[in-house]
Amino acid sequence: MNILQECETAKRIGISGHVRPDGDCVGACLALWQYLRKCLPDAEVKVFLEKPADIFRELAGYEEIDSTFPEEDVFDVYFALDCASDRLGGAEKYFQTARKKINIDHHISNNGCGDLNHIKPMVGSTCELIYDLIDKEQLDSKLAMAIYIGMIHDTGVFQYSNTTPETLQKAAHLISFGFDFPRLIEETFYQKTYIQTQIMGRALLESIRFMDGRCIVSVIDRKTMDFYQVDSKDLDGIVNQLRNIKGVDCAIFMYETGVLEYKVSMRSNEKIDVSKVASYFGGGGHMRAAGCTMKGTFHDCVNNLSLHIEGQFATQDTVQIVQEGSGKEC
Ligand code: AMP
Ligand code: MN
Ligand code: MN
Repeated sequence: MNILQECETAKRIGISGHVRPDGDCVGACLALWQYLRKCLPDAEVKVFLEKPADIFRELAGYEEIDSTFPEEDVFDVYFALDCASDRLGGAEKYFQTARKKINIDHHISNNGCGDLNHIKPMVGSTCELIYDLIDKEQLDSKLAMAIYIGMIHDTGVFQYSNTTPETLQKAAHLISFGFDFPRLIEETFYQKTYIQTQIMGRALLESIRFMDGRCIVSVIDRKTMDFYQVDSKDLDGIVNQLRNIKGVDCAIFMYETGVLEYKVSMRSNEKIDVSKVASYFGGGGHMRAAGCTMKGTFHDCVNNLSLHIEGQFATQDTVQIVQEGSGKEC
């Protein structure tokens, strides 16, 4: 796909990403916004996105983000980044009515919702896809910083298995533009406020292990969120911390989003494909990081998730027994 060719005659271009935007989503939207503004100065380029966390305020274009989703508006080209159209929230109406819809994403659960689709599940972040698609001559420090932020957030600072030699080569090129990357990593990825740390502590303390310690779950209810005065953005990272526990193959973190409704986040290792589990319940994601929204009591939700996780363990155990058995015969 050649982004500039696709936008050649466009006068109005819109860009959006998923609800509850993470670093990859914010980085990709603002990187594409900067790139299009630079290369197509006569076009109007707008970003519609739920208000991102304050930690992303240094990214160029942050102040330009429109989180009010005003009345319907027609765009010549509309980009859905880091998700399919069903997760665009208030921006879905712009995407659906656009003359040309373009979907750029790396979620394995996304079948493509645009007239043009660039979906690469093997690539670690949508920002890495943006890097691949742009003319590198146009890179500058601000554009490089926006792309880099998405790469670090979705690869866990180049730790997760979605980091490839190419990812690191691209990151090396990006930091050559001279932005303060150690501070960016520290302030947007690792640093937590006191309250965020307290609620994480609470979630860890009250977590429950099951399936012989191979799974762990923790839940934060609305009352607790109100007590600590936190919102969903303050709960980032809890599920990763649960996944870090020795012996855990699958971690589940849930928080209450409404009456008998929970946002579910799952993380796993190579033993469980959480994207399959989340997709079954109407969500999606990647093999090792996925999410969905579920209805019911906390116990109903955990029981339903467990059935699917246990099913995957059982299949693997059977495969292992068969392999061991055939080994003996040899
Ligand atoms: P989370 O647990 O919300 O941090 O999400 C983990 C991964 O799954 C991210 O890449 C999300 O974009 C993706 N994801 C979360 N919820 C959904 C959903 N309902 N549908 C599709 N993908 C999702
Ligand atoms: Mn994302
Ligand atoms: Mn992503």
